Amino acid sequence: MKPEDMLSAAMRFGFQKLYFCDPSTTAGVPSGIQSLVLLLKPYLPWDAEIDAFYIADNVAYHDAKSMAAFFSASREPAVLLPQVNYKMICSALPPFRQGKNTLHYHHPFGSYFCLQLIGLYSAIPFSFKAVSPSDVCGNCTLCADACPTGAIEQTGFARERCLRNHMLSGRPIPLEMRNAMGGRLLGCDVCQRVCPLNRGIIPAQCSMAFPLSRLLPPDDHELNRYTELIGTNYANANRLCAQAALAAGNRGDKSLLGPLKALKTHASEVIRTHAAWAVERITSE
Ligand code: SF4
Ligand code: SF4
Repeated sequence: MKPEDMLSAAMRFGFQKLYFCDPSTTAGVPSGIQSLVLLLKPYLPWDAEIDAFYIADNVAYHDAKSMAAFFSASREPAVLLPQVNYKMICSALPPFRQGKNTLHYHHPFGSYFCLQLIGLYSAIPFSFKAVSPSDVCGNCTLCADACPTGAIEQTGFARERCLRNHMLSGRPIPLEMRNAMGGRLLGCDVCQRVCPLNRGIIPAQCSMAFPLSRLLPPDDHELNRYTELIGTNYANANRLCAQAALAAGNRGDKSLLGPLKALKTHASEVIRTHAAWAVERITSE
């Protein structure tokens, strides 16, 4: 397939940018892959319990999978590479710049885009020569000042303190981070909202509802709905239930005390722990 035909295909699958990259700029690329296709699909942020990124990323994943199948059917053998670290590639690609919050930025989308990676077994001329990462933040500290858990430090990014690292992880959320989770189920974009590199991007209105009452615990219908929205990696019944319990506690929603109390005897230790914390938080107000 010619590069221009691949670009047309990418547009048809809803991607707005396509870069042919050198596999040696990252790690974990399967042997035989001679070129990487980095695909970018922008999205608009919104204010809801689930960050728009996770839903957009799930759509982008399925579109990239269909695109790889289309390439293969067009005699251009291709494979989707969801496990390969694309952050390393972005750091070496001139259109991208990495902020202090570790997220990459690309004008005019700011940090609001999803990336997918396809491996090709044929050699395609690379879009750019790899460059050394450059500083995009200067003296700005807005994201560090706004982060509710102090994850962005002078010395670097403390991943273990970032809320995104703990949400739907299946582990008990550290006590000191539970309040900062607020009513969220998945995602935190505080550091993106304050970032001047995202200036001018107008948030969308979320048309979906994520009622906590239906997650304490979720039935099969609700679980299927979340699976379609955020994919199987995140849509795990116990993890959703545990996160919803924390969100209910943070909201101080007394109408959810009944299901929360019932969850204090759930088989999952994480759910029991979070439910007990939520009941205590609501009843002590
Ligand atoms: S995503 Fe939230 S918790 Fe993580 S660094 Fe940004 S503001 Fe802090
Ligand atoms: S808020 Fe400032 S320091 Fe943080 S990523 Fe944006 S420009 Fe960089």
